[in-house]
Amino acid sequence: METPKLNSLYQQLILEHYRSPRNKGELEDGTVEVHLNNPVCGDEIRLQLRIEDDHIADAKFVGQGCSISQAAVSMMTSLLKGASLAEADGVAARFTDMMHGDEDAAKDKSLGDLRALAGVSKFPVRIKCALLGFEALQKALKESHAGETH
Ligand code: ZN
Repeated sequence: METPKLNSLYQQLILEHYRSPRNKGELEDGTVEVHLNNPVCGDEIRLQLRIEDDHIADAKFVGQGCSISQAAVSMMTSLLKGASLAEADGVAARFTDMMHGDEDAAKDKSLGDLRALAGVSKFPVRIKCALLGFEALQKALKESHAGETH
């Protein structure tokens, strides 16, 4: 069986994020933390956010696993630092559309570097890898909302 290849420029961008992940480390003053793993591939992500006034003031992650899972969370945190929670929700929905093969989503500039992962939608076993960071994000946003005291 022939394995389709990701566009090589995109592949470089993915590897670059994998080798030099952005926002990797512990967030000292985070307000919400979510730990998720993908047992099929062995990917693990612990995402920490500091949410202030309906914005993601800071985002960091700790993780290990395949290049797709780690590059995706690196790209996601760089894109969403400073974004409003509504924007973050929108990007998560758009990225999920792209992973389900939506070609318009794959051209959406609001996804930034994440568009490099569009080719992953052709590899069903890897989609879960690409979505892991966003699953953590969506869970964190939900928990943060539920944790509001007023
Ligand atoms: Zn993986």
